[in-house]
Amino acid sequence: MRDVKSADAEVRSAIPPAALVVKDIINSADLAAGTEELTTPAVLGGWLRSHGLVDTSPRLHEADLALVVAVREGLRQLLLVNAGHDPDTGVLDRCNAALRSTPLVVRFDATGRRALEAAEPRPVATAIATLLTAVDQARADGVWERLKVCARDECRWAYYDASRNRSGRWCSMTDCGNRVKMKRAYAARVGRTGE
Ligand SMILES: [Zn+2]
Repeated sequence: MRDVKSADAEVRSAIPPAALVVKDIINSADLAAGTEELTTPAVLGGWLRSHGLVDTSPRLHEADLALVVAVREGLRQLLLVNAGHDPDTGVLDRCNAALRSTPLVVRFDATGRRALEAAEPRPVATAIATLLTAVDQARADGVWERLKVCARDECRWAYYDASRNRSGRWCSMTDCGNRVKMKRAYAARVGRTGE
């Protein structure tokens, strides 16, 4: 089951916080349903605040929204890599171009951990810095590879693969997993009748 609703709180509570925020921002666009949460700069500001990526609701602009979306789609490609697929390099290029316009600096805290900080006092840059620090943290926690996007092309929903051997392929076995298997089984049947 897709762990987005409050009913899935148990699933969500099992995911380390750093991994959860990465998963949540990717799923702010549901490609299968064709829905987008981040519709305006104001909505984005509220989203970033409610997910702890900025401290206060920032005043954002259209360019900030485009920047976050570019980074979000880049992260979706990274999770596609985690799932064993080739990324769309055009999408990665757009993400990297967005990051070039958002200079970040490295800082160490008292525990010796590395964090990223915005080089300029721009709320959207602070949010990106916090988000990418979460990516680093997920790697440090050893859970980055468990963050994947669904193998079904039309879906690409981000999920946390909690399976023991990290062999999960779909956001949900009852939805995408079955659809892909039925499609394959149908293709195999059609193939045989053509012999
Ligand atoms: Zn899926």
